[in-house]
Amino acid sequence: MEDFRNCVMCRRGLYRGRYQRHTLTDNIPRAQPEIAAFIQQNAELEVLFDNTRSVCHRCWQRAVNAARPPVAAEVPEAPEENERNRKLEYAENT
Ligand SMILES: [Zn+2]
Repeated sequence: MEDFRNCVMCRRGLYRGRYQRHTLTDNIPRAQPEIAAFIQQNAELEVLFDNTRSVCHRCWQRAVNAARPPVAAEVPEAPEENERNRKLEYAENT
């Protein structure tokens, strides 16, 4: 019972409500299978997606990052630069 109140990945207690917790709802395996898989692979406690288990915000963030790398790492800065240049050109032509 006590385990249900701890993060399944790092066992940090979540009962105080001090940290944001993410409930492992039963739709996660369907909606976010990569996150579900990461949590299962890295969990120290039994993982069940039945609304009774939770992970702390830090572990959730790890899972999200593992499933989907941060946008900043994937998108090069070039598009932003082009956007700025286009605006400059537009300003110069008017
Ligand atoms: Zn955790």
